Amino acid sequence: MSRLDVFLARLTAQKALLELVAAKIADVPGPVLELGLGNGRTFDHLREILPGREIFVFDRAVSAHPASIPDGDHMIVGDIRETLAYCGPRVGAPAAFIHCDLGTGDPTADLARADWLAPLIDARTASGGYLATGVRLDLANFDMLPMPEGLEKSRYWLYRKR
Ligand code: SAM
Repeated sequence: MSRLDVFLARLTAQKALLELVAAKIADVPGPVLELGLGNGRTFDHLREILPGREIFVFDRAVSAHPASIPDGDHMIVGDIRETLAYCGPRVGAPAAFIHCDLGTGDPTADLARADWLAPLIDARTASGGYLATGVRLDLANFDMLPMPEGLEKSRYWLYRKR
């Protein structure tokens, strides 16, 4: 796959998985955590498809499109390695859904990130909650769910916590 193919597959998977999970979490209480504001595209989509659901967004800096920046109470700025570990008092209940879009495309950097990210995500996810991630994670308390047809090569993964 060319880099353009990889990019398109990733965005296609993001949209499909966000919508799939949004339809499944009606009965799962808790906020949504968006790891990686970036340009704000997936945050903007999440707030559109999950109106009324609290969404907390994490990034080391705010550099999104001005129309896609969360309010100050819901934008958690800093290194996720620290902020995700200590966000409990601010975000409250464990998350019904975590969308993790931190991948660099560099396999070594992604492996290193996966190592510290997995336990932090485990600690912040509600039982029955979902994780869609662009970095494959080793999560003992989660089941990896099959990707929807056509998205198998997207380099995105979907998990549900038991
Ligand atoms: N989901 C975004 C969108 O749709 O526009 C794109 C996210 S972009 C691919 C990844 C973002 O993750 C970058 O903005 C980067 O600053 C952030 N990021 C990566 N590692 C991070 C870390 N350890 N702590 C905080 N932010 C991080």
